[in-house]
Amino acid sequence: MPTVAAIVVAAGRGARFGGALPKQYEQLAGRPVLRWSLHALARHPRIAAIQPVIHEQDRALFDAASVGIETLPPVFGGETRQSSVRHGLEALAALRPAKILIHDGARPLIDQATISAVIDGLDGHAAVIPGLTIVDTLKRSHDDGRTIVETVTRAGLWRAQTPQGFDFDAILAAHVAHAARDMTDDASFAEASGMTVALVPGREENMKITSREDLARAERMVAAASETRIGTGFDVHRFGAGDRVVLCGVEIAHAHSLIGHSDADVGLHALTDAILGAIGEGDIGDHFPPSDQRWRGADSAQFLAHAASLVRARGGDIVNVDVTLLCEAPRIQPHRQAMRRRLAEILRIDAARCSVKATTTEELGFVGRREGIAAQAVAAVRHRVD
Ligand code: MG
Repeated sequence: MPTVAAIVVAAGRGARFGGALPKQYEQLAGRPVLRWSLHALARHPRIAAIQPVIHEQDRALFDAASVGIETLPPVFGGETRQSSVRHGLEALAALRPAKILIHDGARPLIDQATISAVIDGLDGHAAVIPGLTIVDTLKRSHDDGRTIVETVTRAGLWRAQTPQGFDFDAILAAHVAHAARDMTDDASFAEASGMTVALVPGREENMKITSREDLARAERMVAAASETRIGTGFDVHRFGAGDRVVLCGVEIAHAHSLIGHSDADVGLHALTDAILGAIGEGDIGDHFPPSDQRWRGADSAQFLAHAASLVRARGGDIVNVDVTLLCEAPRIQPHRQAMRRRLAEILRIDAARCSVKATTTEELGFVGRREGIAAQAVAAVRHRVD
């Protein structure tokens, strides 16, 4: 029985947003909004299961948005937000978690500390929500929205965010008991059932995306909260008997082959180390020890793909990569574009972000004596600071 589970509510049609896609599937900094929300919850160490609630027409969008993120199979939502949440709660009833967090899929910038605060708060209360104080003066207008009737005191008023946390049995009972009432958040059901709802501090960044302007603001927040990290890599392989080399994933006929445990692709090895370096994940030998027979003659593309998957697992993006091959022969120029395309394919980024260059060493040193090929690489990774 998982202690803490989470429901991500993403069944809305986003009538206020007015795009071709429901807002939770719009792109935020290169990833669907919903992916951000799912990823934030999935990587929290105390959340054992995630139950997505989606619209029945969005299955393909959901599958694309959740690639690589472990969730329970999505359930379909209902006509209203509250019926969607109830579907999620009922789907989890078999697992019966002790505590449940209910989060809006359209709040992509939820941070780990707020999630922790809500979960911690559930040790002392059956219901906990993140809330923000109101700084603007509040006015009540006439029905026409043109003139003011009065100023409303803001003392004691809070803006409710998600994730809202609850004792699972209690909130399921509250949702069922008050299903006929129209309420816009889950804490309202807890209140209606007489539960005490505790507050923890919310965050301005944990905004709900309801309009194009919100999405643009979220983009600015992501940019401000991101940093670019750089890694470098270097590798050498010596020539031996053979009739081809593999460089940056492209096979080239040559008078010698490069000798190595794997396919000896110096370009991909240097680049793999550069990406691992950018995320502080050691080097290629840590992940693929030469002593391991599995990597004998291996296609080095799998090493590079693994490094890229580690970047994505941390919520990062590869910004660009640049590989320099150092050799007298073979000539690289005729193969450069094919190499760039291959890197793009392995890294799943645009070829415009993949550079391959080559140089000789003026016949100096081991490269100059044609004893082997060296490669150096740089990778830049964009990393969200949480
Ligand atoms: Mg190597």
